Amino acid sequence: MKKYNFNAGPSILPREVIENTAKQVLDFNGSGLSLMEISHRSKDFQPVLDEAVALIKELLNVPEGYSVIFLGGGASLQFTQVPCNFLIKKAAYLNTGVWAKKSMKEAKLYGEVVEVATSADANFTYIPKVFDIPTDADYLHVTTNNTIYGTEIRKEIDSPIPLIGDMSSDIFSRPVDVSKYDCIYAGAQKNLAMAGVTVIIVKDEKLGRAPRQIPTMLDYRTHVDKGSMFNTPPVVPIYCALETLRWIKKSGGVEAMDKKAIERAKIIYDEIDRNRLFRGTVKEEDRSLMNICFVMNEDFAELEKPFMEFATQKGMVGIKGHRDVGGFRASCYNAMSIEGAEAFAACMKEFEAKL
Ligand code: PLP
Repeated sequence: MKKYNFNAGPSILPREVIENTAKQVLDFNGSGLSLMEISHRSKDFQPVLDEAVALIKELLNVPEGYSVIFLGGGASLQFTQVPCNFLIKKAAYLNTGVWAKKSMKEAKLYGEVVEVATSADANFTYIPKVFDIPTDADYLHVTTNNTIYGTEIRKEIDSPIPLIGDMSSDIFSRPVDVSKYDCIYAGAQKNLAMAGVTVIIVKDEKLGRAPRQIPTMLDYRTHVDKGSMFNTPPVVPIYCALETLRWIKKSGGVEAMDKKAIERAKIIYDEIDRNRLFRGTVKEEDRSLMNICFVMNEDFAELEKPFMEFATQKGMVGIKGHRDVGGFRASCYNAMSIEGAEAFAACMKEFEAKL
């Protein structure tokens, strides 16, 4: 039976990305050695890294004056690394859930943190819209897509200070105005690659201003200066990222990803809204195109388990909601096909018709 992978992350990747990466793992560039066995400094690996950086710049239209680096430590390390490098005195944070809270906690180790707004009052089911941004803060940190709650900020916030974005779960799903950001970071394991690498885009002129001694490994300049080769980079995840970036380019770039994401999400949200058994958990205008969260309507609460079993039988994988939200979450990253979204909507419809 065909399986549809709606996991929140690690999650679906294009089949050809997995196959091409697997080939190189078995025999890298016909060398007879595995990609796992070669030196990251070998003449064949440098072009992999260079092409990946070039494609990121091309796909996101990264302006001059920004560097792209690959680091380990996940997006979680960026919660620390960002304030360590960019927080001079005061930083502003928009609190849209678990990941934002974790990033604020780390920032407090480095200076004053202002929570400009929060949607905690409604279990983070909306994006706060009206708030003051202190003009004397060094940056405004936003989580552009809240993987757990299914909310998304799809347009850059109009901010008098530079933005810093955790784009772990929506990078490369739509165009972004990089010039508004001092830093963008994303753990790779949703829209880009297998887990193990984080992509970071930093504005060069903003580095080296923080009034503290930064440990060498935490200093972005270390990695910018050494082209992500200060220490041994995770070569297999970087290779996997390169394959995904090639696939995105071939598929029409982030504009095409955006179009597909809108179409795909509409199919599922329309069915949630039509179907008497279900309701979406997020305020309509803030619904994420990547993580579609919904629950059973109160009258049908006892059908949660039966629907889960039914959907599993139909090949739907990874649709259990995060424990903080409950219900269901259908994550639809770039590699999810329109057919996958249609199959999911049909499954909901069929379940309703059985009653
Ligand atoms: N930020 C967001 C929006 C996430 O969804 C996640 C993980 O799911 C993280 C940060 C943490 O990423 P990592 O596990 O790579 O540290």
